[in-house]
Amino acid sequence: MYDVAIVGLGCAGYTAAIYCARYKLSTLIIGAEEGGMGMAAAEVGDWPGTVNITGPDLMENFKKHALSFGGVAHRIVRIDRIDPFDYAQSDIRQKAFHLILQSGEALDARTLILALGTKKRHLGVPGEVEFSGKGVTYCATCDAYFYKGKGVAVIGGGDSAVEGAAIAAQVAREVYLIHRRKEFRAEPYWVNRMKARDNVTFVLERNIVEILGKEKVTGVRLDKPFEGKDILPLDGVFIEVGADPASGLAKDAGCALDAKGYVTVDAAQSTTIPGIFAAGDLTTNSNYFAQFTTAAGEGTVAANSAFKYLQSAEAIPSPQGRGSG
Ligand SMILES: Cc1cc2nc3c(=O)[nH]c(=O)nc-3n(C[C@H](O)[C@H](O)[C@H](O)COP(=O)(O)OP(=O)(O)OC[C@H]3O[C@@H](n4cnc5c(N)ncnc54)[C@H](O)[C@@H]3O)c2cc1C
Repeated sequence: MYDVAIVGLGCAGYTAAIYCARYKLSTLIIGAEEGGMGMAAAEVGDWPGTVNITGPDLMENFKKHALSFGGVAHRIVRIDRIDPFDYAQSDIRQKAFHLILQSGEALDARTLILALGTKKRHLGVPGEVEFSGKGVTYCATCDAYFYKGKGVAVIGGGDSAVEGAAIAAQVAREVYLIHRRKEFRAEPYWVNRMKARDNVTFVLERNIVEILGKEKVTGVRLDKPFEGKDILPLDGVFIEVGADPASGLAKDAGCALDAKGYVTVDAAQSTTIPGIFAAGDLTTNSNYFAQFTTAAGEGTVAANSAFKYLQSAEAIPSPQGRGSG
């Protein structure tokens, strides 16, 4: 039985693990993918104290830091389910949680910190599923390297799309940035980096209606012609149209979600289920500003709250009162 199980191997999860280790809680950190969304960041220029670092290097630092204290168990595996159960020992009676792993194994913890992040949104157009992994991918910065000298499109107008187009333009022959609106929502830093490249073409106020191919992607069909043509021939399509909270596990465990599916938390990062805390891009906190700094801040508070909850035998007193066993 762990004191705390942190689900998620990203920025929020590793930050929570650092604090839990320093509180001397028996801690498990577990998640499906090492490093989480941070692995997609080509350059991070806003992590305080470090002028510039790649996302993968930053996440490696997080992991090393969290595991440097010893006593933090680390597993890479998907969790399929969370089952609450009644736990009683000496004067403590409270809910505890079985984590049911994809392998079928069960691990138990008295508190949970859910740091499940978000998952990339899909376009939902014909050809997307068929050519996924055959020219269609959901991380321009991760996969651009494989398209050296080729023609690619990045779909979207937010931070990930614009950063992705700027990075892809360093290796690809030509990059089309296809965006349904006229303006970009991305940080000016990345917009300027992208605009400085002469091999990026903006295809604005257009949607993709189909991804075309045979064995691999050969192009996309647009809803309105661009420069007289409604088909753009391409080798790769990077879909960067936002992300939705990965809140399925939290919902099934009984945690309340907001209308968009984010896990509702209070200022202590407590969810609506006692003993379950949540942190990072998954939650309603930090004004939905999904950043490393905000995820780290929420992970910090969640760890502190889990510590206080565990310290307090009165968090959920036994029906007979304290000391009744
Ligand atoms: C291209 C790109 C560039 C970015 N650049 C910057 C930047 O420069 N500066 C900045 O501040 N932010 C940047 N961000 C945002 C930043 O990466 C995120 O805000 C941050 O990584 C969120 O961390 P998190 O811990 O909340 O979630 P995540 O990092 O997404 O971690 C979620 C974890 O939960 C795990 N998980 C989910 N479901 C399950 C399950 N069922 N079972 C087990 N594990 C599960 C995942 O495998 C993962 O390990 C960028 C994001 C992208 C995509």
